[in-house]
Amino acid sequence: MRSLKRNSHRLRAIRPPTSLPAPPRIFSAPISTHPSASNDVTSITPIKSLLIANRGEIALRIARTASSMGIRTTTLYTDIDASSQHAKCTPNSLALGPNTKGYLNGPQIIELAKKHGIEALHPGYGFLSENPTFAQACEDAGIVFVGPPPKAMLDMGDKARSKIIMNAAGVPCVPGYHGPEQSVEELRGHAREIGYPVLLKSVKGGGGKGMRIVLRDEEFEAQIASARQEARASFGDGGEVMLVEKYVVRPRHVEVQVFADRYGNCVALGERDCSVQRRHQKILEESPAPVLDDATRHDLWDKARKAALAVDYVGAGTVEFILDKDTGKFYFMEMNTRLQVEHPVSEMVTGTDLVEWQFRVAAGERLPLTQDEIEARIHERGAAIEARIYAENPDKGFFPDSGKLVHLITPKVSEDIRIDAGFVEGDTVSEAYDGMIAKLIVRGRDRETAIRKLELALQEYEVVGLSTNIEFLKRLCRSQAFVEGDVETGFIEKWKDELFERKHVSDEVFAQTALGLLTSQTKKTISGPHGETLGFGEAAAQGSRKFAFQVKRDDAAAETTDEAPEVVQVEVTQRGHSLYNVSVSRSTDASTASPVVYENIISEPGSAVAASHKSQLTTFFPRARVETTLVQDPGAPEKLSVFQLGEKTELTLVQPGWFEKALGLKEAAASVVAPMPCKILRNEVSEGQEVEKGAPLVVIESMKMETVIRSPQKGIVKKLAHKEGDICKAGTVLVLFEDPDATPAAGSE
Ligand code: ADP
Ligand code: ADP
Ligand code: MG
Repeated sequence: MRSLKRNSHRLRAIRPPTSLPAPPRIFSAPISTHPSASNDVTSITPIKSLLIANRGEIALRIARTASSMGIRTTTLYTDIDASSQHAKCTPNSLALGPNTKGYLNGPQIIELAKKHGIEALHPGYGFLSENPTFAQACEDAGIVFVGPPPKAMLDMGDKARSKIIMNAAGVPCVPGYHGPEQSVEELRGHAREIGYPVLLKSVKGGGGKGMRIVLRDEEFEAQIASARQEARASFGDGGEVMLVEKYVVRPRHVEVQVFADRYGNCVALGERDCSVQRRHQKILEESPAPVLDDATRHDLWDKARKAALAVDYVGAGTVEFILDKDTGKFYFMEMNTRLQVEHPVSEMVTGTDLVEWQFRVAAGERLPLTQDEIEARIHERGAAIEARIYAENPDKGFFPDSGKLVHLITPKVSEDIRIDAGFVEGDTVSEAYDGMIAKLIVRGRDRETAIRKLELALQEYEVVGLSTNIEFLKRLCRSQAFVEGDVETGFIEKWKDELFERKHVSDEVFAQTALGLLTSQTKKTISGPHGETLGFGEAAAQGSRKFAFQVKRDDAAAETTDEAPEVVQVEVTQRGHSLYNVSVSRSTDASTASPVVYENIISEPGSAVAASHKSQLTTFFPRARVETTLVQDPGAPEKLSVFQLGEKTELTLVQPGWFEKALGLKEAAASVVAPMPCKILRNEVSEGQEVEKGAPLVVIESMKMETVIRSPQKGIVKKLAHKEGDICKAGTVLVLFEDPDATPAAGSE
């Protein structure tokens, strides 16, 4: 790695040739209030071409603003991302090759920019965005790095160094030791002085790694050994250098969005509370921070601007503070020297486009708004909140998921409802990258309105194909403690009983699922793929159909419980055109409760859905109209996702043993019959063959599921009634046996 210190003296000279020499900065520079009108046009070189060194939603978001500013934009893609949305969103997109880590390949990216004559590079967040070596290399290559000067990144990149600078600038840091004494005994002495509990952090830390809480002096040695080991493994040499901090027991995460230009101006675009986290990672972010007095709020903004000015910051940055709920005091934690995931929250409450600001400041313009103008806007614009939609399973400890988005409906966007997404229906969320599918950002006139609007918007979301945190986010919106603003970083843990409570699935969900399956099958019957009659349309019109469902459960309790999963049986009888009787019986209370029966309800399929694995229906239940979208997993059609009244329920269609009985299939002697309407996939035996009990006879397909029909007895096959591809009604004889005395019945698995 090339030494930055050696190069730093050249930095200003390397800045785009048109840049003014930056005026000297003092730590507590008075905040100037230059209106944009005072821009000296001769010093401004608008960016005309841009390379986005990132992927996913942030690449799309940057491209959107760039194109609105008339900037010719180029994106990058690794092989696995070749057909992803970000690669498609610009006319020019350049290949990085097969390595999924391609977005981290600084030299290759700079080569591409040079080769294609691109003037500027936006690093987005993550990847190369906080890499001072890369930023420096861009400058050296004559490419405008849309971000802060490398020196500012370097100063803020080290947790100990940044705190020394902050202390000198009068920005409060968590009481602690950030110095060079690194022996266990010396550090332990500092821990005693600070007072337990303390937090050990690696100076190189990030992503919550290399951090340990020490509650008592006796634990100190063991905890520092383990923190050092983890830090060395994660951050390499130098990772073992530790700082000791007072551990804040009930912390809130409050951060300030700052923006600085090259002329010593710095503004705060309000603060964001990001306390609702899992695994030290944010899920919900909002602005303004709830339950915060005005004096503290302004003090936070002030200290954040001081922090930025102390390192000669230019561009967008976020100063993170930890706020002690017990004392009301706040402390500098770190500065993220880039655009942050949650920046739209600040854009919403200030009515700005921060990416536009980034381009303008990089071009040499002054800040577009003064602090007073920003504050006036915040007063007017109310509150905004962002929910991160992740491919992950909250019931399994928020374990990341990946897969194809087989069905995706997103909330309707408006001036107050914004979606920044990287995926559309049919895309695959790869495990190679971060599992954030989208960000949903909502603004309301006040915090409560914003939360309610967020919940409503989340209810419009429909995602099938992988697990998401959407249902969990809805529960967060309904949490009384959250609505009251009683947030802290341990929020999810503190309220876990309420947030992970199992919901009761209503009878209407099962009724609608059965009706949806019936109508979609009838639809298919009428327009069979080869024009053939699939044999169930008319039957359905007169007879009744039975379905059995189980609610999918994958929380920890599901694995340990002895409780048999509830099987819900639904019988649908068609009474006339769009007219049905539906009865729902639930196994857990089968002995006591009688089935719930809906009589003569009108149910009609929606026309909006074209795909064969989806159906939509509207049903008038006795008390209300219910609209439902039903999606069958194309790879496993027994897996059903039901979207109804703003909630998603996942069900499994069970092929029950009682089905045969219910369909009255037991009468035929010396034969095996079809347990359900089906297509013959293949005969596994031939006529005259002797078979053992349990031997596979015929493989059928029903509801896109294969079922092996096994021999109920030992015997000789007399006749195979059907050939491959035949469509059979339930009860059709499939195999006849020689021995007429046997009493066979179809056994399915
Ligand atoms: P990283 O670089 O990993 O993001 P931070 O220093 O920003 O590290 O800390 C990450 C998280 O750890 C914070 O959001 C906060 O929840 C928690 N944390 C950090 N410092 C303290 C502290 N002194 N006391 C209590 N919690 C802390
Ligand atoms: P396709 O969708 O290609 O028509 P399926 O395997 O889904 O093929 O269904 C074949 C036939 O069997 C259809 O007419 C369907 O209505 C019927 N069918 C499938 N499963 C059931 C079931 N559980 N109960 C009654 N009929 C069913
Ligand atoms: Mg952090």
